Amino acid sequence: MKNLLTDFRSDTVTRPSKAMREAMANADVGDDVFGDDPTVNRLQKRMAELTGMDDALFFPSGTQSNLASLLSHCQRGDEYIVGQDAHTYKYEAGGGAVLGSIQPQPIEFEPDSTLDLAKVAEKIKPDDPHFAKTRLLCLENTRSGDVLPLQYQQQAQQFSKEHGLKLHLDGARVFNAACYLNTELDSITQYYDSVSICFSKGLGSPVGSVLCGSREFIQQAHRWRKMVGGGMRQCGVLAAAADYALNHHVHRLQEDHDRAHQLAEALSTLDFLHCDASKVQTNIFFFRVNSAETAELLRRFLLSQGILIGDGTTVRIVTHLDISDEAISKTIQAFQDFQSSL
Ligand SMILES: *Cc1c(COP(=O)(O)O)cnc(C)c1O
Repeated sequence: MKNLLTDFRSDTVTRPSKAMREAMANADVGDDVFGDDPTVNRLQKRMAELTGMDDALFFPSGTQSNLASLLSHCQRGDEYIVGQDAHTYKYEAGGGAVLGSIQPQPIEFEPDSTLDLAKVAEKIKPDDPHFAKTRLLCLENTRSGDVLPLQYQQQAQQFSKEHGLKLHLDGARVFNAACYLNTELDSITQYYDSVSICFSKGLGSPVGSVLCGSREFIQQAHRWRKMVGGGMRQCGVLAAAADYALNHHVHRLQEDHDRAHQLAEALSTLDFLHCDASKVQTNIFFFRVNSAETAELLRRFLLSQGILIGDGTTVRIVTHLDISDEAISKTIQAFQDFQSSL
């Protein structure tokens, strides 16, 4: 393989390993639109078991999986309550509104990435012809690397039941949350009506997400998936990558968390940026540089050392499968060299 950059922009940049590619090449496949792909069927069954849900459905992306969830929970003229910067609101091209005529009601995340349930309650609309019908609450876990406490998620479940809302989890990185809490996946997912989980983030698959929920919910999601073009044929080659990730990449997530923490600790000692290492829980953290000019100089300096970060004064750092201990050491050295050059 080519000499790769050390790329901290996202955990989506991982490339499938040789062993994962072999698992993909060897997968038994069939036409999944006919329900005939044994590898997809096995993955769906496995994910239903892991999440403690009735059923599961394989999707090409988390965006489509979240969309199918919105469309299945809500009808035209319904509303979902969601975080202001949530992926399911801000980063999915307004799909729920465009394709489902579902009105989003965004509210600000609290500093710990929860949604304050008292504020959610204020936004629930009474049954009145002036208003959309509030149907669904969406949470995100992890969100910006933060893990939602189990107790909060239990409260959110209780709250949703009391108010007649469904509860969806955008759990793109929910395996990272389970790792941080040192718990099984279903101790988180038990609180939700549906959960969407990505395999193409820290789990290192090239493609794929799974939506889990009740049998009836997954039947509806299945129709929506077909409608938006997500019915795939011999996609067992992709499900095989997800299956491989479950076997080999879940138990190692702690390594990514440890490396994020180690890097954040080192950055927190530098003068030209601000980084709070005590807040790092999983594989994502942020640091802030005071001036845009310094931030750009830093980005270019790191690039010259083969290290890739995003632009802007608030920089997101993400560790993943393709960031080794050596890459962390090299990166810490590069940041220190940059400081010396100032
Ligand atoms: C990546 C991500 C998704 C899904 O994104 P796709 O790129 O469509 O797979 C959903 N939610 C969160 C929080 C994500 O990070």
